[in-house]
Amino acid sequence: MREEIKTICNRDCPDSCGIIATVENGRIVKQKGDPDHGVTAGFLCQRGNHYLDRFYSEERILHPQLKTEGGWKKISWEEALDIAAEKLRYYREKHGAQSIAYISYSGIRGLITKTLSRKFWDCFGGVTLRRGGLSTEAIEAGQLKDFGGLGTHAPDDLTNSKAIVIWGKNVAVTRVHCWPFIKQARKKGARLIVIDPVNSRTAQRADLHLAIRPGSDGMLAAGIARQLIENDRYDHEFTDQFSTGFEEYKNLILSIPMQDILSETGLQLSDINELTTLYAEVKPLATLIGLGPSYWSSGGATVRMIDALAAISGNVGIPGGGAQGDIESGAGLDLSDLKEPLQNEYRSILMPKLGEELLNTSNPPLKMGFIAGANPAATCPDTNKVREGLSSLDFLIVVDQFMTASAEVADLFLPCTTYLEMEDLVIAYGHYWLGLCQQVVPPRGECKPDYVIFQKLADRLGFGNELSGTPGEWIDRFLTPLHVDGITYETLKNEFVPDPRAETVPYSNKNFTTESGKYEFIRNFTPNDLTITKPQLRLMATKTLKMVNAQINQNDIPSEPVVRLHPQTLKEREVGDNDRVRVTSKVASVEAIVKADPEIQPGILLFNPAAWQGDLMGVNQLRESFVSDIGKTAAMHETLVTIERV
Ligand code: SF4
Repeated sequence: MREEIKTICNRDCPDSCGIIATVENGRIVKQKGDPDHGVTAGFLCQRGNHYLDRFYSEERILHPQLKTEGGWKKISWEEALDIAAEKLRYYREKHGAQSIAYISYSGIRGLITKTLSRKFWDCFGGVTLRRGGLSTEAIEAGQLKDFGGLGTHAPDDLTNSKAIVIWGKNVAVTRVHCWPFIKQARKKGARLIVIDPVNSRTAQRADLHLAIRPGSDGMLAAGIARQLIENDRYDHEFTDQFSTGFEEYKNLILSIPMQDILSETGLQLSDINELTTLYAEVKPLATLIGLGPSYWSSGGATVRMIDALAAISGNVGIPGGGAQGDIESGAGLDLSDLKEPLQNEYRSILMPKLGEELLNTSNPPLKMGFIAGANPAATCPDTNKVREGLSSLDFLIVVDQFMTASAEVADLFLPCTTYLEMEDLVIAYGHYWLGLCQQVVPPRGECKPDYVIFQKLADRLGFGNELSGTPGEWIDRFLTPLHVDGITYETLKNEFVPDPRAETVPYSNKNFTTESGKYEFIRNFTPNDLTITKPQLRLMATKTLKMVNAQINQNDIPSEPVVRLHPQTLKEREVGDNDRVRVTSKVASVEAIVKADPEIQPGILLFNPAAWQGDLMGVNQLRESFVSDIGKTAAMHETLVTIERV
């Protein structure tokens, strides 16, 4: 028997693709992009096309496991849930609820999962949660200060742009379903400019690639702004009527000497003039902001400097314009369960410094951990310290699909489902379409959705009906405001639809949700400290087509880690192509094979994340735990390393 069922990819990717899965005799034989989904447009990325390898992998853990002296032992769900509930109760009673750390991150995407996990911990008592993160937190914090919200244009609005400037974002790899809209805009004559220290796949396709010094994005934005202001080429209507703080911003910009801007960015004045002309004369111009500029100590301020260019050039609130981060979708949904204040007093620990926080937090010290939707021992900076911190806990529970680096140091493993085995409602952070995760086949082995695990634990801990309800009931509850539009749990089973309440061109009425009701210009800016003393190198890593964070198919993991450096950089260090080197940072040393690559900027060591399992070869061992100014994201690009031949 052959059947086609629609579902949605709920991995940590902005595209949230609509998928048609084909089932034959109970086995999924194929999954493809839904041609009727306005953003997926009938294709998946390489990660999606190979997802069934991951889904049917022999490595998946299909039953609850308890760590014993003799190693992992399969146990029943009844036993596993009893142990989990008993441990939670024990540590709450003995050391207080805050002695328990709940660590979840971007692995939890569905709204039922998000809502029920939040409710679970609120019913349980004020535990220790994580604050900050590893991704867009600095971008969001910067944009909240400027605009008061996170409004971002729908990706298809890019087809209205006459120019697109991409700052530190590898769209052709990380937003493959945004790329076709950029291509359409270019067909209509739009110019594509990429600002990126790395000659990324996106940079290679640009009309102009400006390979600035890593971390100098804020200074480049200052240089463009300086030329616009000095030559009176900015939008007075916007600055006079719809903004506040422009005079202070102007003084700030004019106080930064152009000579400093040129030496920090490594660019020529002609480069800055070319961008200035673009921002002054081409409208609408879309500015896309990636993680690159934000992964620094001044990451949030840098984002604000880039936002300001969109503002002074009159590109805010117009089709084809905008300063775009990720999308805050779900405008049409009832998300009150996720937004209402928590009932209990929580404590928080910093995600970018998780290892140190786990080890050093006191009063009460952390005794127990519960991880779901995250693999911090692979994805946080300084993973050796994170493993040490997790190992120091008396008892650790991990909910996951595989025996990840974090799960390896756990005491109890609870196996969870994928998007092909469960129901949930997913909103994207790269577009405004709504879609259902639907169960395509029954769960493999005894895997359960995360939210069912929380429901069952809630029963054991006596939380009443707070978390009860079937997936359909929860989904219809989120969709209540859209029922009048005919969008329900039942209708979403058959089609993906755009959210009719989404603001696809935000701020078009120039109403901002800041305190002043106006766009708020940045008034102080401290550039990143880019001092590098030879023989130090800047450690950089970019995402690849084969990975979703720490998730890489086993076959795609390189047998050895590879680092890429410019031939001149290698020559200065007397290292040759294909040599084996030891890469050393302040926190770790990793061995790798060198590839000479003339495309890499001198002074940069490019080290792509490698293994998800154990992060044994991964870049995150080397990364130090730096934190951004606002938003508290990991300042991933601050780490310096040296190399020596081994
Ligand atoms: S990883 Fe992203 S692009 Fe790939 S299938 Fe999933 S949602 Fe689509």
